[in-house]
Amino acid sequence: MNERGVSLTEGPATPAAPSLDGTLSSVGKRFDDILARLSAETGEAQKESSAYKKILEGVGADLINKTNEVLVEQLLLLRKETQRHAERLARLEAELAHSDDELTSLRHALRQARHEAETDALTGIANRRSFDGQLAEMMQEAAVTREPLSLILLDIDHFKRFNDTHGHKAGDLVLRLVASRLSDMVKGRDLVARYGGEEFIILLPQTHLEGGRILAEKIRAGVAANQIIIKRTGRSLGTVTLSIGVAQYDGSESAEGFVERADAQLYLAKSSGRNRVMPK
Ligand code: GH3
Ligand code: MG
Ligand code: MG
Repeated sequence: MNERGVSLTEGPATPAAPSLDGTLSSVGKRFDDILARLSAETGEAQKESSAYKKILEGVGADLINKTNEVLVEQLLLLRKETQRHAERLARLEAELAHSDDELTSLRHALRQARHEAETDALTGIANRRSFDGQLAEMMQEAAVTREPLSLILLDIDHFKRFNDTHGHKAGDLVLRLVASRLSDMVKGRDLVARYGGEEFIILLPQTHLEGGRILAEKIRAGVAANQIIIKRTGRSLGTVTLSIGVAQYDGSESAEGFVERADAQLYLAKSSGRNRVMPK
């Protein structure tokens, strides 16, 4: 990064991951396989246990009237069956241990799937679905604690023109760059998410409107001041600017109402000339 430039490296933000649907259906199938194997194995063990029990009962019955030859024969049978039974139990034990490993690996796969479901694939930050969940939680918390809660909604100016001039791929790089700069500029429990195409949203717990405005202005000025340079070629793509709306939760409105108020401010920022923060 040079003093007033931001370098971009072309390439995917994250290595191509399997689709969420793919991950979930493979997790489901592996889970079904484990259940089927366990159920088959325990079914067999049960059958064999009851056969073994019958043999024990047969050997134990009417001992007094049995000849030595019959007793020896029955003891040999008992030894053989006991061994078979022990082997079956050992197999069941091994199967259980294997299933345990499989379940641990499935738990990891599910955690990964959950992460994917909450992450924007292009930029690697939270997606809108994840944001909506967090917004609901933080609004509830703010209503109880009476702590302030603010949000910043921002939109890249004339981004269609940027794409038309430099290509969609360069546009994608800019989205990743903006996402990463926003993430760098927030702290603690603040949440940055991609809200839609070229719109981002930042949730700021324990922050008044004025604090939100100050951060928004810092973001606006920081992004506008940096040239976007493609690292590989050294080519400059100029700068992009942001229009930003800020709102503070009023303590009782709906999530939609809260976001709409920030959106109304963003609209004002656009209509009054772009590259600015509203309210002033
Ligand atoms: P304004 O200043 O009024 O916001 O103008 P704008 O051109 O930014 O807004 P408009 O809504 O007309 O166009 C948004 C553009 O954002 C068009 C679309 O191609 C681009 N865009 C949305 N998502 C992506 C994306 O994932 N990658 C790229 N490269 N461009 C995107
Ligand atoms: Mg837009
Ligand atoms: Mg735009």
